[in-house]
Amino acid sequence: YVPYYLPCPEILSQYPQPKLLEQRPTELLTLTPWLAPIVSEGTFDPELLQDMYQPLNLTIGVTAFAVGRYTGFVRHFLESAERFFMHGYRVCYYVFTDDPAAIPRVPLGAGRQLSVIPVQKHARWEEVSTRRMETISQHIARRAHREVDYLFCLDVDMVFRNPWGPETLGDLVAAIHPGYYAVPRRLFPYERRPVSAAFVADGEGDFYYGGAVFGGRVARVYEFARGCHMGILADKANGVMAAWQEESHLNRRFISHKPSKVLSPEYLWDDRKPQPPSLKLIRFSTLDKDTAWLRS
Ligand code: UDP
Ligand code: MN
Repeated sequence: YVPYYLPCPEILSQYPQPKLLEQRPTELLTLTPWLAPIVSEGTFDPELLQDMYQPLNLTIGVTAFAVGRYTGFVRHFLESAERFFMHGYRVCYYVFTDDPAAIPRVPLGAGRQLSVIPVQKHARWEEVSTRRMETISQHIARRAHREVDYLFCLDVDMVFRNPWGPETLGDLVAAIHPGYYAVPRRLFPYERRPVSAAFVADGEGDFYYGGAVFGGRVARVYEFARGCHMGILADKANGVMAAWQEESHLNRRFISHKPSKVLSPEYLWDDRKPQPPSLKLIRFSTLDKDTAWLRS
């Protein structure tokens, strides 16, 4: 059901020859030390990937949480995803909300559908965030594993600005946090208290990944989210809240369970920051929002 092979068909269009000795297509690192590609503009041929992946007839899932005032982000999120996210593929959006009536009926393209899934509203915003891993893993086990091949778990307070396509598909996918791509790892905001399951020692860590974007093959996302949830539960039992809640647990887990593909900050940007010359294209970005108002 989930493809392990890419077909090698004659239908591939003509494309430039890959050249072993050519200069680097981007200023960014293109490969991690464990040989996972780091995806950014210039490192892949969109048409070639389209020709390879289109015949696989894949379904891509998206989870987004819209609890409390975050329902106000759903329209912009979905409308921009309809323009830019996995164009030409089947897509299932799963929107988890405490207020289904507040979710707008955004017109969707052919083969794309929206499921609104009711969840409880937790009193504190930290609770909403630390429940995501649990909810995602349960949802995969109950339903999504039958419906999608790949699943991306995304923050809803964001918009797509440029194409996000099959170059992002991989077994286990992480995105580099826009605030820390140029920062030495001793300054990463990891959880540093050994009492937490999210503890990261000095000298550990590769990239600081954002909690707003992760994904992969649905079975791998299940294992990943469940592993993070177990860490969060252990912390709860010890009365600990990790420095950046589930993002801390996600970062801990990606150190021991390395992503097979890493997305550059093109795929997780923040509009409140100026676009650096090393990033050619901003594809998915945080809106400037009034955090205090949203969480009140
Ligand atoms: N979220 C929500 N309601 C809340 C708080 C958070 O639905 O009251 C969801 C929403 O999908 C949001 C995500 O949890 O995008 C992460 O929270 P937030 O975006 O506020 O965290 P940040 O990106 O600022 O770290
Ligand atoms: Mn966010």
